[in-house]
Amino acid sequence: MTVRQTANLMYPAMRIANGEMLEVNQQFLFETDNAIRVLEEKTQARLSSQERSMLRLLIDAHDKWQGLISAYRLYLINRLGSLHEDVLPTQINDIDILFNRVSDNTRELSRLARRHNLDLEVVVATEQMHLLSGQWYGGFKEVLRINTGNWRGDIPLMTDKIHPLFVQLYQRLDQLDDALKQSADVDLAKQTQIGGTIMQSLWGVALFVFCVAIVSLIVLEYNFIRPIASVARSLKDEAQGKLVEQLPDVQTTEIRDLTDAFREMRQQVHSRQMALEHIAMHDSLTSLPNRILLMDRLNQAINNARKRQRTLALVMLDLDRFKEINDTLGHQTGDALLQQVGARLREVLRDSDTVARLGGDEFAVLLTSINETNAMRIAGTILEALEKVYEVYEHSLYVGVSLGVAIFPQHGETAEILLQHADVAMYVAKRSNNGITLYDTRRDQHSVSQLSVLSDLREAVENQEFYLEYQPELSMSTGAIIGVEALLRWRHPVHGIVMPDDFISTAEQTGLIKRISQWVLDKAIQDCVRLHTLGHKISLSVNLSVWDIQETSLANAIRNKLEQYAFPADYLMLEITERVMMAEPERARQVLKELDKMGIKIVIDDFGTGFSSLVYLKNLPVNMLKVDKSFVMDMFKDESNATIVHSIVELAHNLGLQVIAEGVENDQTWIWLKKWHCDIAQGYYISHPLTLSDLEHYLISSVKERLLGKSVT
Ligand code: C2E
Ligand code: CA
Ligand code: CA
Repeated sequence: MTVRQTANLMYPAMRIANGEMLEVNQQFLFETDNAIRVLEEKTQARLSSQERSMLRLLIDAHDKWQGLISAYRLYLINRLGSLHEDVLPTQINDIDILFNRVSDNTRELSRLARRHNLDLEVVVATEQMHLLSGQWYGGFKEVLRINTGNWRGDIPLMTDKIHPLFVQLYQRLDQLDDALKQSADVDLAKQTQIGGTIMQSLWGVALFVFCVAIVSLIVLEYNFIRPIASVARSLKDEAQGKLVEQLPDVQTTEIRDLTDAFREMRQQVHSRQMALEHIAMHDSLTSLPNRILLMDRLNQAINNARKRQRTLALVMLDLDRFKEINDTLGHQTGDALLQQVGARLREVLRDSDTVARLGGDEFAVLLTSINETNAMRIAGTILEALEKVYEVYEHSLYVGVSLGVAIFPQHGETAEILLQHADVAMYVAKRSNNGITLYDTRRDQHSVSQLSVLSDLREAVENQEFYLEYQPELSMSTGAIIGVEALLRWRHPVHGIVMPDDFISTAEQTGLIKRISQWVLDKAIQDCVRLHTLGHKISLSVNLSVWDIQETSLANAIRNKLEQYAFPADYLMLEITERVMMAEPERARQVLKELDKMGIKIVIDDFGTGFSSLVYLKNLPVNMLKVDKSFVMDMFKDESNATIVHSIVELAHNLGLQVIAEGVENDQTWIWLKKWHCDIAQGYYISHPLTLSDLEHYLISSVKERLLGKSVT
């Protein structure tokens, strides 16, 4: 470190170069400059020729010296930096040459100075220059003598002292490395040994755990899993109604509890199932089998009969005025009556026969192993038993019954068809007031539509399968269309257009008529409002049924409708039949009065077919009579019809009522009706019922025709 920090020790040449030669160099330059200055201080003119050549020589010496010093510095740099060693000899040679020139120069100068007796100062300077240059060159020679190796003082130290130390250090490091490697090898061996031991222990533990697990599994399997699986299987079998295999006989408490619980549950499920089955298969009111059970037994009976080539009979029956009884005497009475009917049926029949209640007042009886004659005879017995008076809550009730009979296999080979056909036969019995009817294949076509009516009517209301047609009503005096009658149509998804005669009575029986009537009123009023806005101020007739008029809320419902659509009440006419009036005269009168107060007109429809006397009508708020079409249509085939029509017109006028003749089919009828001063005519002669858009066209063209004088009048 000391060598590195001390320049003279680090670079030995520097002592000579810096210490001696530099000083000499400076002195030489000083002396030279001094001499030059002395000579220059004299003006050029005053200089002698010797002095002038002296000055030249001095300046030359000065320059050469500078060159010498530069060359020497270059040499030093090369040496110290160990740069271009190969140029050193050339550089030394250059220095020698330069020095010789300087030396020649100084020698000449001092000679000249002394000879020409120049200023002392100049003489001394030149002498000094010569002396100093010699001295400098001595120093240079000394520098040259320095060995190549000694130019840097640290090199011997590095090679002789530091390098051996490094060698030693590396040796030690190698030793240390070896030692470490050895100890690492030893450690590795040790650890491998420990790892092996741990591995062995782990295997041992694993084997032990495995054995324990296997044993536990076996214990678990035999004591729990298998018994539970067996219970589960039994549960599943039980759920699927299969025979339950033996329950496991295992001693563990848990499993025993489980099997006990299962046995108990099975018993409870069984009894509940029985109860549920009974509920599902029986009618709650009469405890008789219901439709499901009947169908089940019927299917079985059909299978048996088929195998043994026997016949069987299915009897369908329903009560004729049950709905009225229910409505007037209350549900309790109705229910009690149904229970008595059920009991009487069971009484007169064998235990082997099935008596079922299908709903409402509808019952069915399945008679097995019976022929047609005997079936009809038993139907007679049933009729006789059921038509006897019933004592229900201090009421004595007489109830009509209609029975339909269908025989397997001639009237149907499946349960469904047999039931359908018994139903059709019952329907026919009811219509013809026949009591009992045996199914007749020839009536099939007609009856099928009746049947589908029964089942599809409810859906028709939901699915909006109804639409309306309008039949014009013509004023006989003016020939103007003064109103239309709304007529209901049913667009059945399968049977196509169904006419009201084929479904209105069913709708009445099922009570659906109320909803249908509401719909008709709503739609017809909307349509007529439209006609009014188009400029056709005509009245609207809507048909109501028995049940509508019994409803005390009818007047309110109609008032709301009129308000809703802002339809004037005096444009609305409600058509009701005499039958409607007779069913509940007092209630009907109340309802009619209210309607009358609102300004609504009441028309007695199908007039002439019922029994109502005109006098009776006088006390009712009735505005018009509609002569039934059966009289009008055949007026000229049957003279008595013409007489009836004529006298109805006369009598009605006497009572202050207007008369509409419906069923006007030809001009002859038209002419006579006009002669008798019938007020209004309706019928195919004027127009068939029309859809709303056809009616709009019809109204427009009839206005035009009247303007052109082509009217039927
Ligand atoms: P209705 O009230 O006596 O209606 C007149 C019936 O006679 C209509 O039959 C009509 O198309 C038909 N008709 C009209 N002009 C002639 C003719 O010149 N010759 C013949 N042969 N028939 C003619 P539709 O439309 O089949 O209606 C039948 C019955 O259904 C109606 O008899 C009515 O009692 C009932 N009905 C129709 N629409 C409704 C309704 O919206 N509600 C209720 N409750 N009953 C309705
Ligand atoms: Ca009518
Ligand atoms: Ca009518």
